[in-house]
Amino acid sequence: MTIPIDDMAAFCKKKGLVYNTADMYGGLAGFFDYGPFGVEIKNKLKAAWWSYWVQSREDIVGIDGAIITNPSVWKASGHTENFCDQMLVCSKCAAKQRADAFIEEQTGKNLEGASAEELNSLVAENKLVCPACKSSFKEVKDFNLMFSTSIGAAGGDDAYLRPETAQLIFANFKLIQEHARLKPPFGVAQIGKAFRNEISPRNFLFRCREFEQMEIEYFINPTIQTCPYYAELENTHFYLLDAAAQEEGTENILELTAKEAVEKKIMHEWHAYFLAANISWFASLGVRPENFRIREHMKQELAHYSSACFDLEYKFPFGYKELLGVADRGTYDLGRHQEHAKKDLMIYDDDTKEKYLPVVIAEPSLGVDRSFLVFLYEAYDDDKERGNIVLHLHPRLAPITVSVFPLTNKLAGKARELYKALKHSFAVSYDASGSVGRRYARADELGTPFCITVDFEEDGCVTVRDRDTTKQERVKIEALTSYLRKKIEG
Ligand code: ATP
Repeated sequence: MTIPIDDMAAFCKKKGLVYNTADMYGGLAGFFDYGPFGVEIKNKLKAAWWSYWVQSREDIVGIDGAIITNPSVWKASGHTENFCDQMLVCSKCAAKQRADAFIEEQTGKNLEGASAEELNSLVAENKLVCPACKSSFKEVKDFNLMFSTSIGAAGGDDAYLRPETAQLIFANFKLIQEHARLKPPFGVAQIGKAFRNEISPRNFLFRCREFEQMEIEYFINPTIQTCPYYAELENTHFYLLDAAAQEEGTENILELTAKEAVEKKIMHEWHAYFLAANISWFASLGVRPENFRIREHMKQELAHYSSACFDLEYKFPFGYKELLGVADRGTYDLGRHQEHAKKDLMIYDDDTKEKYLPVVIAEPSLGVDRSFLVFLYEAYDDDKERGNIVLHLHPRLAPITVSVFPLTNKLAGKARELYKALKHSFAVSYDASGSVGRRYARADELGTPFCITVDFEEDGCVTVRDRDTTKQERVKIEALTSYLRKKIEG
């Protein structure tokens, strides 16, 4: 079941998952603090991503770049000049709106990639006014989203908080490639914070000013375009909104396999592979694939250097919205850094004895905070029969895996002993307050998949209750660890 985003934010606050930053001072728009249980989910989701994309593969390595880097990086990448959204400013009260998002909301039109002229004429045609004071808007203007700061004592050098993780991969490309002894095709991954001075942060964690990205830059030799991993996932089912449908102003969804999308030349193998692999990663952690839609970018949305881009969108209560972008970036980034830093970033191919600049065939870039929201939406269930909310989180993502209860306080010693023993292997909590029913409800609301009740029986067993089925099983204490491990791995 789905709930409005404001209710999800209230639930997250109530359960210690996410707070407005410095809530006691009234928060700060677009910034959030993860609480004791939220940080566990977030860390586990990042660990699951890292394990899937980096640790279990031979062709992808990771880095952890600086948040503030040499500003020349942003000059070379084009961010200093072009990393802008168009802004509408009220002529009377000066309230600001992100132009495309605001006009889209008011008119229902898809304005991805719309020019300033188009936006201005839509404001005029639809007589759009400031939602705060009903006055007219000034003409749209560009607003650079990078947060600037200065380094060193007064009068120090200007710098920026990074607006994306990708550029640190490009700026370190040669070092990474040499040290990890990589030969295309290979990828470099990074998980880390990014900062954007969003004009209208909204929808809770969906659009924040400080967020995290899980990003891969995937490099190939441009003469070898085939993807060796694609066949493994070619039967993945896609719900696809292609560029043609959007250009006709419809939302007709094509249902087809990854293989059919490639055969119809809608996308190349690498894009099909990365989209399928992301759907499959989410599905392995309990997200229903039918809640995703792939949206092909229309020509006008593509950057001049990009030949294709696909968004993986999720059906949020406020509509299908981007969770991940998979872009083809050609040689743009390495080319720009090569030119600006005057350093050779070409790779020598031992087989052909030729030098070439690798092509970024895919840049899958996924938001951590948006993924966190997806997992919560998939898990959230207001169970009327039980009379409480149940978070059906995958056991690998649940903040607490096992909660141990003594049936009565007389059993506290035995129960605490078990709690301490399990703590070596799992995230465990100990709960002795209120009735067992109340304790089950508390555990359900945090998504704890297993509750163990220690009772007076002398058979060396405890009762394990499954969050999703509410079924109870007697399990030997000495077999508990392997029993739980098996359940978690599914
Ligand atoms: P949008 O169109 O929603 O502004 P974008 O296309 O600018 O997103 P990218 O630059 O492709 O986003 O960033 C990659 C990913 O980082 C996005 O798919 C999203 O998951 C995440 N992301 C981007 N901006 C934000 C934000 N302001 N708050 C939370 N996550 C974000």
